[in-house]
Amino acid sequence: MAKKQFKAESKRLLEMMINSIYTQREIFLRELISNASDAIDKMYYKALADESVVFEKENYYIKVSVDKDKRILTLTDTGIGMTKEELENNLGVIAKSGSLAFKTENEIKDGHNIIGQFGVGFYSAFMVADVVTVVSKAIGSEEAFKWESKGADGYSIAAAEKATVGTEITLRIKENTEEDNYDEYLDEYRLKAIIKKYSDFIRYPIKMDVTSH
Ligand code: ADP
Ligand code: MG
Repeated sequence: MAKKQFKAESKRLLEMMINSIYTQREIFLRELISNASDAIDKMYYKALADESVVFEKENYYIKVSVDKDKRILTLTDTGIGMTKEELENNLGVIAKSGSLAFKTENEIKDGHNIIGQFGVGFYSAFMVADVVTVVSKAIGSEEAFKWESKGADGYSIAAAEKATVGTEITLRIKENTEEDNYDEYLDEYRLKAIIKKYSDFIRYPIKMDVTSH
């Protein structure tokens, strides 16, 4: 499968995320949950504008699943999904990347908590994961696609299987190092605490699903 390169600015931000000395890595979950919530909002607005789309609140939720042994954290949403082009355009580049990169760079320089205040977005997943996989099926589409990246060396997109509309983001959580603990992002109670801290206001239910072997 052909590997595609990130745009220069995206790559720069991505590298900062991957090599982040940043202590508040936990905010990656806030970013992914906020994207999931935005995607469900888009479905809701689409239903308001388009009579053929019915929005039944109970069908819309965000699910956080953990497989400790496999070191996998998965976020599933029943939002609007992404087409192949949207995966390419939305995840291959960073919107407002100039100002974001500026904030991130300055934070690294002066150590202030800027990332904590501003959205850093999807790429923050790379603060805790060494592989990020996004499988998505857009509303009105028969096909699903998979976007995958191991970080700064690029990403690939391929056809995938997904029965329902929405997005599933899989993070392969990094191994612990002497300095850094990543196991905490596979711990149910720690994850619940992070969700409570940053995502308490989210309007859709956030479900949790833990697999133990
Ligand atoms: P922002 O949320 O500020 O636009 P992000 O980096 O968080 O920036 O996300 C980039 C884009 O990727 C979003 O604007 C959206 O179009 C798309 N996206 C990310 N996650 C999802 C998702 N779960 N469902 C649908 N689209 C998504
Ligand atoms: Mg976002």
